[in-house]
Amino acid sequence: MSEKLSSSKRIKEIVSKYGFRFTKSLGQNFLKDDNVVNDIIDQSELTKDDIVIEIGPGIGVMTESIAQKAGKVIAVEIDKNLIPILNETLSDYDNIEIINEDILKIDLNELKEKYFPDKKPKIIANLPYYITTPIIMKFLESNFDFQSMIVMMQKEVAERIVSKPGNKVYGTISVAVQYYAKPMLVLEVPRGAFVPEPNISSSVLKLVPYEDVLVNVIDHKIFLRTVKGAFSTRRKTLLNALSNEFNKDNVRKALELSGINPSERGEKLSVEEFAKLSNAFVEVEKSSS
Ligand code: SAM
Repeated sequence: MSEKLSSSKRIKEIVSKYGFRFTKSLGQNFLKDDNVVNDIIDQSELTKDDIVIEIGPGIGVMTESIAQKAGKVIAVEIDKNLIPILNETLSDYDNIEIINEDILKIDLNELKEKYFPDKKPKIIANLPYYITTPIIMKFLESNFDFQSMIVMMQKEVAERIVSKPGNKVYGTISVAVQYYAKPMLVLEVPRGAFVPEPNISSSVLKLVPYEDVLVNVIDHKIFLRTVKGAFSTRRKTLLNALSNEFNKDNVRKALELSGINPSERGEKLSVEEFAKLSNAFVEVEKSSS
């Protein structure tokens, strides 16, 4: 029986057999700690009934453990040099589909039609740090139905995503994510759990989309402009900060319509208040045009 995929020895063997070179720009830090792999996968509460989309399988460390617990794994890996490796490391499993694509370019609805038309998948990802936010927002904003997302990312980004109004790291990404899903910090992962060791600390976040949205947003573009405007200059009042994004008279009217104090700071508004305020902008802009 060969060594586990998550052992340093096996990773070294694979790297040397295939002459694989880690690409820093693709965030290639592979997990070498079985306990961490299991802890991440446990958060997904997998059963044989589940379909999992794994983003960035690397050499397949998490993919193998997911395949043992789930019904099927769709593993999307951008690096073509990893495909022959994955074909070897995962050859014992007939419930894994390896797709050589960029997750940011893939059409999620086509993926669903092809592999799981009647199921809501679970997502598991140990993401490259530089594209964490676009990947999460792609899944949340595309109306793609999924059960949960367990995602490893830079610790500071995870802290921003879960933070609440009034916290100094509460910002655009907190509101943008919390509009769609409840984020929970579930794990901290030491740098030593990876090869090569990254120079940042990592945390695992669990995102569970709400069954029903908190407040229905009429226009998502205006919602995002409202949030971005409110956080554009954190020390300014909402009236002044939002005037960077909207006409100042309309800002006054929208704040009044939504019952929000114009001298409040953006960092104090809840997700529901941002949604209400952005709906007020839609009303005000309609009546002023
Ligand atoms: N899951 C493996 C593990 O835990 O050992 C590897 C994680 S590594 C941090 C990130 C992986 O995502 C790499 O294999 C990288 O090639 C892949 N990747 C990077 N950008 C990607 C993208 N846009 N789409 C799909 N995979 C990507």
